[in-house]
Amino acid sequence: MIKINGSEGEGGGQILRSSAALSLLTGKPFHITDIRGKREKPGMMRQHVTCIEAACAISDSSCEGLHVGSSEIIFHPGKIKSGNYNFKVGTAGSTGLVLQTILIPLLYADGPSHIILEGGTHNMMAPPFDFIERVFLPIINRMGPSVSARLIRHGFFPRGGGRIEIDINPAPLKRIDCIDRGELKSVNGTAMFTGLPFDVADREVKAARKVLSWDEEAIGVRQLPEDQGPGNILLLEAQYEHVTEIVSGFGKLGLKAERLAKTAANRLKGYMNSEAFAGPYLADQLLLPMAIAGGGKFTTVKPSQHSLTNAEIISLFTDIKIEFSPTKTGAFLVLIGSK
Ligand code: AMP
Repeated sequence: MIKINGSEGEGGGQILRSSAALSLLTGKPFHITDIRGKREKPGMMRQHVTCIEAACAISDSSCEGLHVGSSEIIFHPGKIKSGNYNFKVGTAGSTGLVLQTILIPLLYADGPSHIILEGGTHNMMAPPFDFIERVFLPIINRMGPSVSARLIRHGFFPRGGGRIEIDINPAPLKRIDCIDRGELKSVNGTAMFTGLPFDVADREVKAARKVLSWDEEAIGVRQLPEDQGPGNILLLEAQYEHVTEIVSGFGKLGLKAERLAKTAANRLKGYMNSEAFAGPYLADQLLLPMAIAGGGKFTTVKPSQHSLTNAEIISLFTDIKIEFSPTKTGAFLVLIGSK
């Protein structure tokens, strides 16, 4: 039984989700205590319970202590099975984080799967749908499988009600190197909004344009149907030959549109000025698939606490060693390989 302290390092939900995925993939049971110990409201929220319920449903696993508010579970993994699955978070909690729990295990199932996920699609502190579709999945597909994602309906906090669908044609993950991102092909940005004044999105566009000296038409406004809101997100995207980066600014009460846009634009600018392949979020999300592939390497920006903690969790379940080392250009090289 692998013992995990959920308050170490980043101390968030990723420790739980990565542990569940790794447990399914390695067949090793785990006991986690102090779940989300470093978060403002520690313990499992509805979305974390859904992640573990989904992990159990795709594998006939069993779990003790699973309920909202729980800070401790024991997870016994079963055999991963393909199928048609529908998981509802039940709140505006992130569908992307449920996917993060079950996607890599389902690549090792006995056949294709179709998944419907309902809840939030554009949540703070989670990968927005666009990031999953255009940043993360293209790399997974380069590693062998064929995974496609469709957004049926947007879901924002607090209403939720979003829906995404995922088709998975599994294949074992191959080792790949992601060092050079290639030439910049195009840039674009969208301030999506619904149920809020047009002015909010318009001010975001103007503030982002001030930081990024892109053509006027590169950043625009998109109004979503009223019943999908209220909600607001600014997505800024840079497409390179071998990778796309999307930085998001999440609208929330009390956060000025200009400030949100300026922060997001400066983050993307920082990435574009670096030579890194993976931005900070893609970096933590690539560690698990690359470890399961048996190795790989990529360049990134300064490793986040999420990346460092995810590497620790991976080392508890596998013989994979993950090293982060600075390069001469100020980027970091991440080497994933056998110990
Ligand atoms: P945790 O905070 O432990 O629940 O983990 C959050 C996960 O969501 C990590 O895998 C992050 O990489 C991912 N994430 C958070 N914010 C973003 C974002 N703006 N874009 C893409 N991924 C994100």
